[in-house]
Amino acid sequence: MEIEIATIGGYEEVGRQMTAVRAGDDIVIFDMGLNLSKVLIHDNIRTEGMHSLDLIDMGAIPDDRIMSDLEGDVQAIVPTHGHLDHIGAISKLAHRYDAPVVATPFTIELVKQELQDEQKFDSGNDLVKMDPGETMSIGDSGQVDLEFVNVTHSIIDAINPVLHTPEGAVVYGLDKRMDHTPVIGDPIDMERFREIGREGEGVLCYIEDCTNANKKGRTPSENVAREHLRDVLYSMEDYDGGIVATTFSSHIARVKSLVEFAKDIGRQPVLLGRSMEKYSGTAERLDFVEFPDDLGMFGHRNSVDQSFERIMNEGKENFLPVVTGHQGEPRAMLTRMARGETPYELDNGDKVVFSARVIPEPTNEGQRYQAEKLLGMQGARVYDDIHVSGHLCQEGHYTMLDALQPQHIIPAHQNLKGLSGYVDLASNNGYKLGRDLHVTSNGNIIQIV
Ligand SMILES: [Zn+2]
Repeated sequence: MEIEIATIGGYEEVGRQMTAVRAGDDIVIFDMGLNLSKVLIHDNIRTEGMHSLDLIDMGAIPDDRIMSDLEGDVQAIVPTHGHLDHIGAISKLAHRYDAPVVATPFTIELVKQELQDEQKFDSGNDLVKMDPGETMSIGDSGQVDLEFVNVTHSIIDAINPVLHTPEGAVVYGLDKRMDHTPVIGDPIDMERFREIGREGEGVLCYIEDCTNANKKGRTPSENVAREHLRDVLYSMEDYDGGIVATTFSSHIARVKSLVEFAKDIGRQPVLLGRSMEKYSGTAERLDFVEFPDDLGMFGHRNSVDQSFERIMNEGKENFLPVVTGHQGEPRAMLTRMARGETPYELDNGDKVVFSARVIPEPTNEGQRYQAEKLLGMQGARVYDDIHVSGHLCQEGHYTMLDALQPQHIIPAHQNLKGLSGYVDLASNNGYKLGRDLHVTSNGNIIQIV
């Protein structure tokens, strides 16, 4: 059976991920993502009403026109998890394919919300839920199956999809870290990866998340970030002024830890900001997390400001607002607070906890610098970097190669410089650039079989 892999997006950047695998007559698309930084760099662009081709020209979504060079039928569109760089282009591209979107329940719910917000296109694609550990048949040949292997990442319900073909398995490894003690959900299913590496024809091709490929060592468990956060918040137990925290809205495990530790130090947590309400509300509705009954979640500007007024009236020392704005995004809640645009008044000595790290990209770095300076001008004390990454570092990559023993590797989810650490690691383990280690760019098709 012929096997081809089209590397459509995310092979020159972190963002706008999209890969298609053709096995005989059947094609499965993995991820359809958005490169948010290409959107945010323009002031006040609203993507909801924009045409796909304009977004492709901006470099914001994958240029999927190469799909016409693949001879087969798209049978499924499979986003691996709910981050925007993996689902953010579904509303713009999926309608061109007569195929269902297949994903885990939390991811499907986020895709559904993306499709509801879309104003330009009407996607009629079926939304099909599949749980980690499950398998479905692809196409009519009876020879191709799609399996979801449970992985751990900085968002819940993440999987690595595996396409089983008569030539071996194609394992799509975006995005994950190896967490054996996650705060929510099951540990990564390494046992299954080791089985896939040894059963049948083994692994034909592994596509790997190289976000942290230049970093040595091992990415710690979410439990490490949780204990770090506990230490920081418990140290503030006696402080009788304002404490504010921020983190990735989609990082439900982290939000859960913040909510718990706020309660532990005698403060009422409140989630504020549109995406805080969106992700935590969705996770709670789908029973992925149980928050205290009295946890407030407010997204709309008016209800957020009312909540701030209540906090000021009843005393800042009784509350712990968890807000958006960990990257200093100009319109996010923390930045508005720093500029004095909300009813919440920061005083000398108030604490601001960033349970996040700055995404190393000039726009973020500049915005985050500005937000921190503004917070400092109000007298706030900043606690930075209480975080662990959601992506494998080099020892995780080594362990994955050992488990899967793939015949071919395609490094992804980085630019060329970012891929270099992975090329070194794979080369040191017997792979050869151009033979079985395929460094590629967006818009290529690699014939594997
Ligand atoms: Zn991700």
